[in-house]
Amino acid sequence: MTDIRFDRYYRYDELTAILQGWADEYPTLCRLESMGQSFEGRDIWVLLLTNFDTGPDTEKPAYWADGNIHATETSASTAALYLINKLLTEYGRDERITYALDSRAFYVVPRLNPDGAEWALADIPKFIRSSTRPYPRTDELDGLREEDVDGDGRILQMRLRDPNGNWKTHPDDPRLMIPRAPDDLPGGEYYRLLPEGRIKNYDGVIIKMAPPLQGLDLNRQFPVFWEPNQQGAGHYPGSEPEPGAAMKFIADHPNITGSVSFHTFSGVYLRPPTKGADDTLPTQDLFTYKKLGKLAEEMTGYPAVSVFHDFKYDPKEFIKGTFDDWMYEYLGVYSWTCEIWSIQRQAGIEEYKYIDWFREHPAEDDLKIMQWNDDVLDGKGYIDWYEFDHPQLGQVELGGWHTFETWRNPPYQLLEKEVAPLADYAITSCLVSPKLEWYEVRHTAVGSVHTIRAVVHNTGWLPTNVTEQATKMKVVRELELDIKLPAGAKLLSGELKTMRGQLKGRDHKWQYAVWSDDSTTERAKVEWVVEAEAGTEVAITAVHPRAGAIRQTITL
Ligand SMILES: [Zn+2]
Repeated sequence: MTDIRFDRYYRYDELTAILQGWADEYPTLCRLESMGQSFEGRDIWVLLLTNFDTGPDTEKPAYWADGNIHATETSASTAALYLINKLLTEYGRDERITYALDSRAFYVVPRLNPDGAEWALADIPKFIRSSTRPYPRTDELDGLREEDVDGDGRILQMRLRDPNGNWKTHPDDPRLMIPRAPDDLPGGEYYRLLPEGRIKNYDGVIIKMAPPLQGLDLNRQFPVFWEPNQQGAGHYPGSEPEPGAAMKFIADHPNITGSVSFHTFSGVYLRPPTKGADDTLPTQDLFTYKKLGKLAEEMTGYPAVSVFHDFKYDPKEFIKGTFDDWMYEYLGVYSWTCEIWSIQRQAGIEEYKYIDWFREHPAEDDLKIMQWNDDVLDGKGYIDWYEFDHPQLGQVELGGWHTFETWRNPPYQLLEKEVAPLADYAITSCLVSPKLEWYEVRHTAVGSVHTIRAVVHNTGWLPTNVTEQATKMKVVRELELDIKLPAGAKLLSGELKTMRGQLKGRDHKWQYAVWSDDSTTERAKVEWVVEAEAGTEVAITAVHPRAGAIRQTITL
């Protein structure tokens, strides 16, 4: 039995062993493949999940889930592993999961950036944004760089007494640091707050933040609105092996109908568009995206919002080259970025605006979060300030939030509870995909002349094209119905290959019964007239890249 727990993180070798264990234990339900190698040469694993007894994954609609492209967002790996474990262990027991794996496939990449996570999970951790490759330069610039200076396995904050500091202690809780008010007079007890770290070429006076040596952001590497001046963009789209491997895999799997990328943090599902307002989307896509978002909210408690409207770092800028944008804008599938975990919401702060909150918020919010830390974590998430003799700065204090396991990721004891509903939503997201099935196949004969009628239908909720965007970008082929005749049989009417456009699903239908257009827009019919001896076998096939391939042999 593959032994897995969801209250801890796994280093690369352990993660690999777990994935291989699953592949060995469930050979009919999953296969492990390497999509390529990371910068440091680690295999980037993708687990292909489907019931292989009902057909190969490539002939079924599929759903993509990845995690941990950002180095410290290790709970994203946990979410992906939880999804895999649920699919494998509940197959045959849970009706929805059984149907999902019988009819569809999942491609799960638990750790898209294995190198960066390995640094974050090291005994003496190193926190970087993404790839471990130095970029854009290979030598370190002067300044302060985050580091576990006292070697206790945590990267905290440094507190320095400074008469001109911007921070002071909270009057009700001396552990807590709050910003100095604009009119706080000089002479008070003020502090400067810096990340725990070391300063390269410190002159004893000037402290500047060094740009990170590992300046890549692998989630700015995708070929959508890509710009070299976007921070972390890299040399060209897909120039880094990790996003390059994902791009290649996805391009090779046109059966992918949707995606989720697990990240942290904020407790929110983010969706495109990033570049423009919601009204720039095709109308039906926006309606459907919002319906999917509502399902996400109901199942997970995370709000589902647009990046453009609700999740911007700079109101005048938009982020270029992100995975979810690429998936929707260019490939035309509904994609989500799931930002796991919100410490604010845990502390009872409901109405907060993700990024804006960090710019400004009431000090009561900090007290609430501290209270939550005392109640739920026995105060262990916040390290009370302790003296430390810093090699360059002399006497400083270390302390503050143990951010890795309080802000950036859920605390270990809450990890499983946090990621469990995200797996349910991923399964739902897969189940809504288009799905091609035979509606009716029959033949009639007059002498040696046979009329074959095949009707297929889309039994999924989404249309076969998935989005209007996919049609607009011309990335999705039409439904194709083929007949294959043996030697001696002759096609009197009909085509060997028939293209039948796209089939609708149910997502566009109105919920008011009187006005609902309930016509059979999800069906397509084709007829062939064949001259052949009785007993001749003909093969018919219906193929749609996003809705699957189905086959049947008819004995005339
Ligand atoms: Zn992230």
